[in-house]
Amino acid sequence: MSATKIQPRLVDALREVVGRDGVIAAPDDCLVYECDMLVYYKGVPDVVVLPRSVAEVLAVVRLVLDAGVPIVPRGSGTGLIGGAMAPRGGVMIGVNRMDRVLEVDLANRHAVVEPGVINLGLTRMVEGRGYFFAPDPSSQMVSSIGGNAATNAGGPHALKYGSTVNHVLGLELVTGRGELLWLGGPVRERPGYDLTGVVVGSEGTLGVITKVAVRLTRAGEAVKTALATFASIEVASQAVSAIIAEGIIPAALEAMDEPVIRAVEAGIKAGYPTDAKAVLLIELDGPAAEVEVQAEAVARICQARGALSLRVAADDKERALLWKGRKEAAGAFGRITHNYVLQDAVVPRSKLPEIMAQVQAIAQSHGVMVANVFHAGDGNLHPMICYDERVSGQFDAALAASEAILDACIAVGGTVTGEHGVGMDKAQKLARLFNADDLAAMAAVRRVFDPRLLMNPEKVFPSGAACPEVPRVGAGKPVPEGMWV
Ligand SMILES: Cc1cc2nc3c(=O)[nH]c(=O)nc-3n(C[C@H](O)[C@H](O)[C@H](O)COP(=O)(O)OP(=O)(O)OC[C@H]3O[C@@H](n4cnc5c(N)ncnc54)[C@H](O)[C@@H]3O)c2cc1C
Repeated sequence: MSATKIQPRLVDALREVVGRDGVIAAPDDCLVYECDMLVYYKGVPDVVVLPRSVAEVLAVVRLVLDAGVPIVPRGSGTGLIGGAMAPRGGVMIGVNRMDRVLEVDLANRHAVVEPGVINLGLTRMVEGRGYFFAPDPSSQMVSSIGGNAATNAGGPHALKYGSTVNHVLGLELVTGRGELLWLGGPVRERPGYDLTGVVVGSEGTLGVITKVAVRLTRAGEAVKTALATFASIEVASQAVSAIIAEGIIPAALEAMDEPVIRAVEAGIKAGYPTDAKAVLLIELDGPAAEVEVQAEAVARICQARGALSLRVAADDKERALLWKGRKEAAGAFGRITHNYVLQDAVVPRSKLPEIMAQVQAIAQSHGVMVANVFHAGDGNLHPMICYDERVSGQFDAALAASEAILDACIAVGGTVTGEHGVGMDKAQKLARLFNADDLAAMAAVRRVFDPRLLMNPEKVFPSGAACPEVPRVGAGKPVPEGMWV
């Protein structure tokens, strides 16, 4: 039941702005929007509005702010944080119909897109001319560039290319004051505060992003993808640090442990050796000569660090299959567990072997199985803690294990979220990383854009208050079957 009272005249006014087909107000229809992909957190909006232009967004935001009603921006709803959902009800603004690529300027290597453009769609548009949009969350076939900017999405290739913040040159925002701002822009060097950087990763708490100017990246001349197998995930993790310590930054450096390999081979048949206890998927790209030298160095390092085998994909087809295994790993995982809790945390890369041992110890002490598929090069873990919801006590054990893993990551100098963001799920954890003054400064920044705290309330800062309070739930909730991260 929504805590917000929406007056019928507000709904009528919204219809006048976006047309009848742009307003969803029937409670059953609004149910579709009650959660993101972290289905544990639910909050049905009272009304969903689907504008087609920035002028419509501006008019909608102003009407809703005047009515004192919360606003929740939404892209494709693939978030894993309890972000694009409405805990207090209110008006959700879905930007999916704003899906035009407005400008592609290859001479200056940028594009300007509306927020509903799908991530992979932009790469598909420019790849024939040798360019790509580098942020590649595994959800890239579905997630929107506005959502990627709002969450500062990462992905396997963030290791070399950085996350979304490194690829957003500027953006247009309708703020929680009802103003329309352009922050940054296609020309890279700009004096003054980096307000684009403030908005990227702000998860809809400052306003609705209505345009994004993004960098386009030139594809490397050559690419090599290798699969190395190891006797344990700890040994594989040592190889990760050794590769980077050698001065090599692979385009991607991903790790999977034995339960994941088993699941992948049962479902996808990506060609991962089923007798391996761990694999590293290592991708190198760049000038052909450099890739060649680095590939030799990586093979030597892996061998010295105890690799049992190393295979380089012979062609694009084999390479695509190796990646399919990685990208669909968590989905395949549904074959070997009924449910799982997904955690997203980061440790310093050099701590990977230690944290992997701790994860296994935590799994044992909590009586659960934990499988690992993660962005090893970034130290970004995604432990999947298995349980069966039909067995009493298993869910609680999985949650407790998830919390213990997060605590262990923080204890070794890590942080509470790698790429998924804060949302409702991790809001209470921020106080473990930042002191009261830091948090108050963040809250003050928020008020500049959203003085009434109506933009995406209860996200990032619990209850939208100036000083974060401790809310009621823990981190890393169950994800739906069949998804991958
Ligand atoms: C299968 C799967 C794999 C994933 N893999 C990755 C991964 O590899 N890396 C990664 O980082 N994430 C990953 N994610 C999480 C998710 O896809 C990303 O966070 C993505 O950036 C969300 O985009 P979206 O369009 O779905 O946004 P939504 O889920 O709709 O929204 C996410 C947040 O952004 C806000 N928001 C959305 N659009 C706007 C806008 N126009 N203006 C202002 N605020 C807005 C919302 O209010 C919400 O707080 C994965 C998710 C799934 C389901």
